[in-house]
Amino acid sequence: MEKLGRKVAILGSGPAGLQAADYLSSRGIEVHVYDRLPEIGGMMMFAIPERRVPKKRLIQRRIELEKRGVVFNLGIKVQEGNVKCEGDELASRVVSFRELVDKYDALLICTGAWRSRMLGIEGEDSSGVYPALEYIFKIRLRELGYVSQEPDVGDRVVVVGAGRTAVDVVEELCLRSKKVILVYRRKLSESRAYRELSELVRKYNIELYEERNPTKIVTSRGKVTGIEVGKVVRVGDRFQIDEKDRIIIECDSVIEAIGEEPTPPIDEKVASMFNIDIDRGRIKVDENFRTRNPKIYAAGDVVLGPSSIGQAVGTGLKAAKSIELYLREKL
Ligand SMILES: Cc1cc2nc3c(=O)[nH]c(=O)nc-3n(C[C@H](O)[C@H](O)[C@H](O)COP(=O)(O)OP(=O)(O)OC[C@H]3O[C@@H](n4cnc5c(N)ncnc54)[C@H](O)[C@@H]3O)c2cc1C
Repeated sequence: MEKLGRKVAILGSGPAGLQAADYLSSRGIEVHVYDRLPEIGGMMMFAIPERRVPKKRLIQRRIELEKRGVVFNLGIKVQEGNVKCEGDELASRVVSFRELVDKYDALLICTGAWRSRMLGIEGEDSSGVYPALEYIFKIRLRELGYVSQEPDVGDRVVVVGAGRTAVDVVEELCLRSKKVILVYRRKLSESRAYRELSELVRKYNIELYEERNPTKIVTSRGKVTGIEVGKVVRVGDRFQIDEKDRIIIECDSVIEAIGEEPTPPIDEKVASMFNIDIDRGRIKVDENFRTRNPKIYAAGDVVLGPSSIGQAVGTGLKAAKSIELYLREKL
């Protein structure tokens, strides 16, 4: 295959980054992928269960890409500024974003959405409160052999939220015979995951609190003993709590599954120095998946917000095609 003599760094080896690596390497472009985790695949390896995405396929994919010359730099977090996200503790080294910008002809940022949104209520820093992504991630780490134990959540667990991550959390808890109590601020029938959740509620006898929102984590000696939830009153688009209708649900732990946020490798201040715009956490790109910096592109959840494997793959491919055009124009 004809070599183009150009080098691209891809930040993140999830579906967006892998698709881009696949395309660019097939076009004679040298590709170096950086990921802070010890294996490739992103959420496909470290969040989604084996029964939905078999890990063997990812190992095979890595071998195929390496045969084509793609270099995987694993265990390396690329960062500049104040940016922390779930799983950073597995990185053995940090490389500065600037170093890569100087070293490569183009950069593609595919760092996903690795921070759980939190409710921001009293008691949230107590022992026994888990962001959903942390809980799921640690289960996968145990399955993959990186840690010996899963989080000890006790027997009665409150799950807050009713999206896709909540479905996975509830499923994992039920598989471990936990008593699950689901709290959602709307009616369950309004949730996008209604079909899956209503099936789980029926199958596992899950206690359901609809149109209720947490107002406080109840604790004793810094450990969760319950959660206070208020009745939700909707005023137009806003959700308000009926002060007169609050109840306490006893539990051993609380898992907050109210969504994930995009996690760029740089904070807004650093981004502006590189002519990159970050809007509500997402990297802003044009129709070619290019930032305002001509050599820096972005794709996947870090651009879209939490999406899907298919959408991440689609945007990764489009970004890779734009990068190829850019590099060929510069020849
Ligand atoms: C619990 C859960 C279940 C899901 N189930 C499904 C499903 O069944 N089907 C489906 O289609 N979608 C599912 N999704 C969504 C899907 O996994 C994501 O939309 C998709 O993986 C996004 O791909 P991505 O390439 O943008 O990012 P990711 O897959 O998140 O990959 C990003 C990669 O970047 C790395 N990274 C992050 N920051 C840095 C940094 N600073 N330096 C170096 N590396 C970094 C991360 O370690 C990670 O490997 C699920 C998501 C979750 C949370």
